[in-house]
Amino acid sequence: MKEVLVLGAGYAGLKAVRNLQKEVGDNAHITLVDMNDYHYEATELHEVAAGSVDKNKITYPIKDVLNNKVKFIQDEVVKVDADKKTVELKNSGQLRYDYCVLALGFVSETFGIKGALDNALQMTDIDQAVAIHEHIVETMKKYRETQDKEYLNIVVCGAGFTGIELAGALVDERPKYAKLAGVDESEISITIVEAATKLLPMFSENLANYGVSLVKSLGVKIMTGCMIKEIQDGRVMYATQDNEELQAVPGKTIIWTTGVSGSPVMGESGFKERRGRVIVNDNLLDPDHDDLYIIGDVSALMDKATDRPYPTTAQIATRMGAYVGHAIAQRLKGEVPEPFSYNSLGTVASVGNTHAFGLVGKKEYKGFPASFVKKMIMNKSLADIGGAKELFAKGRFDLYH
Ligand code: NAD
Repeated sequence: MKEVLVLGAGYAGLKAVRNLQKEVGDNAHITLVDMNDYHYEATELHEVAAGSVDKNKITYPIKDVLNNKVKFIQDEVVKVDADKKTVELKNSGQLRYDYCVLALGFVSETFGIKGALDNALQMTDIDQAVAIHEHIVETMKKYRETQDKEYLNIVVCGAGFTGIELAGALVDERPKYAKLAGVDESEISITIVEAATKLLPMFSENLANYGVSLVKSLGVKIMTGCMIKEIQDGRVMYATQDNEELQAVPGKTIIWTTGVSGSPVMGESGFKERRGRVIVNDNLLDPDHDDLYIIGDVSALMDKATDRPYPTTAQIATRMGAYVGHAIAQRLKGEVPEPFSYNSLGTVASVGNTHAFGLVGKKEYKGFPASFVKKMIMNKSLADIGGAKELFAKGRFDLYH
């Protein structure tokens, strides 16, 4: 009997398991390991952080997705020994595999910036997102007691998609914060501090300008060309090209969204990795191990058109998971899988519940229609990985709040 091990129940790992349990016959055991007993929609963490949705809206039990062919172990992966084909777990000892799917996801990337871990709030898992919302609620209450305006300042570090989507969700919730603080909502300040001068480089100039203007029109201050050098308690310290002397943006809520790296387990396990990502071959295999698939945010797949790795997104993670589940089932039957092929369907960034912008295929979407497209993308993801049950329970069928 062959042992198939899937590590991580994010978009990539859970999609792989869905295909495996459908396609693999009785000649293999399938085991899934994750430290949580739930899957979460990582693309929607900003909504929980802002308080737009409850955490239950973007999570569901992993067991809901599994059939009786899959054994689930709730534990933390410590290390993978690819030569010995073993995986060390924190509490349950060692597992052996014939095929392994490494899909351990992402952690926050702080680039070693001083104070970023201690003085900024991270937003890479459910607990952190919940903690951000609780922190904002607390600071608004603190303002009532102290009348110190710094409690009304929310500072977002990094204007990538995550920072932009978070700022949009914060704008939506601003009236609630204002009520808690007992102020007019215009007094709640939301600032994004960003190193680059050109934002949203993946979009055409026209679409990027639209996105930036949209966020600004909602009252968000975007400071570009400001390289964050340090986070102090209640202070984002930055330098500009013209002025190396550090300047401060004060705020009692500082949220870190300057990018992500792959799980530290990749480095601990001795893989040839950069920022926790391993360059995989065309079949999504570790180049040195024919039985080890590396997918999702721990994998770097080169895009031959640009000679750069594809960006890590939920979309590519899900596609990789689907491919690998099918490929292992094929190999168990003695078939030879075709290489993985990928074309991005596009990207849409939401700015609150009713605005968005993005590119789907060759078509650019803006405003409310884009927001509708974005909700359809979220629903597709729920259906793809969670199935019909999760789609009906957690899907976005409301056009407005
Ligand atoms: P990112 O790397 O895309 O953006 C991080 C931003 O932080 C960049 O603009 C960078 O210039 C800035 N930054 C980094 N260091 C800085 C510093 N010291 N000072 C100031 N600014 C600094 O990261 P992300 O937004 O977390 O996105 C990660 C991946 O997930 C990307 O591939 C993204 O496309 C994807 N994503 C997609 C969606 C969507 O499809 N809607 C949503 C969120 C994220």
